[in-house]
Amino acid sequence: MEDGNEYQGYQLPHELVALRDQVKRVIREEVIPAETKVDPDAPEILDEDYWGIAHKIQAAGMWCMGSPKQYGGGGLGMFPMCLLMEEMCQHRMGLYNPGAGVFGRTPPPVIWAGTEEQIQKYAVSTLKNATYTFFGITEPSGGSDPAGSIQCRAVRDGDHYVLNGTKIFTSHAHEAEWGVVFTRTDPGAGRGGLPLSLSKRGRPALRHGRSRCCAPPPYQTWSILKTAGFQSHSGSGPRVAV
Ligand SMILES: Cc1cc2nc3c(=O)[nH]c(=O)nc-3n(C[C@H](O)[C@H](O)[C@H](O)COP(=O)(O)OP(=O)(O)OC[C@H]3O[C@@H](n4cnc5c(N)ncnc54)[C@H](O)[C@@H]3O)c2cc1C
Repeated sequence: MEDGNEYQGYQLPHELVALRDQVKRVIREEVIPAETKVDPDAPEILDEDYWGIAHKIQAAGMWCMGSPKQYGGGGLGMFPMCLLMEEMCQHRMGLYNPGAGVFGRTPPPVIWAGTEEQIQKYAVSTLKNATYTFFGITEPSGGSDPAGSIQCRAVRDGDHYVLNGTKIFTSHAHEAEWGVVFTRTDPGAGRGGLPLSLSKRGRPALRHGRSRCCAPPPYQTWSILKTAGFQSHSGSGPRVAV
């Protein structure tokens, strides 16, 4: 069109384009060189490389960009994070460990649906210290439809829950400080019977099984025989899982 009113397409905000370029640069100039130092199948870069890059990211204010600002994150929403994640994944281990974790090891998103006490106790220290966490949704019965396939049971026992079931493909379960396990309290209640439990590492009966994948950890099969946790929001599992 001659009148200058032709549709230009959607333009990304300049700040977001600049941030995306920064992420791209970090991946190309910092993460990929660090990755070449480790075995091609290694799921992580060396610890000293990790912290060398992570400290620069923290100083640049690019740490945990998708987590809420009031808890120490960057406060970015779903759309900008999708754009940034696209860039964070552009390296060998980026498929399952975007940016090799140098942009912060964020807690499972469901934690933001927890109580303020739970957020302070679990999420804030994870953001600060980049400790590993895990989330356990997938079971041998399937992972695509958690509401239909979850069979892991949670039975109240005094002030805690006893979990009983098997979870598979739970990344970082073997090294995590804590994690969120999706369970069923009432098998007859459908989606309403799926609360979340927070489980701490080191419970004696939380047993790790053999690895189900050809890759080494972080992909592990593990069985929960008995562990204590506490409920977040009863029935909020399916809603906050996605
Ligand atoms: C690298 C990696 C890391 C992972 N980390 C974790 C983790 O930390 N925690 C965790 O809980 N899980 C984790 N998973 C598991 C992952 O979330 C599941 O593999 C995924 O949700 C799919 O579930 P599934 O493998 O049981 O396949 P299924 O649910 O059995 O699906 C098998 C196939 O059927 C298709 N299908 C399923 N249902 C439908 C339907 N209704 N209509 C049409 N097609 C359908 C699927 O698209 C798929 O192709 C990880 C997986 C990988 C590969």
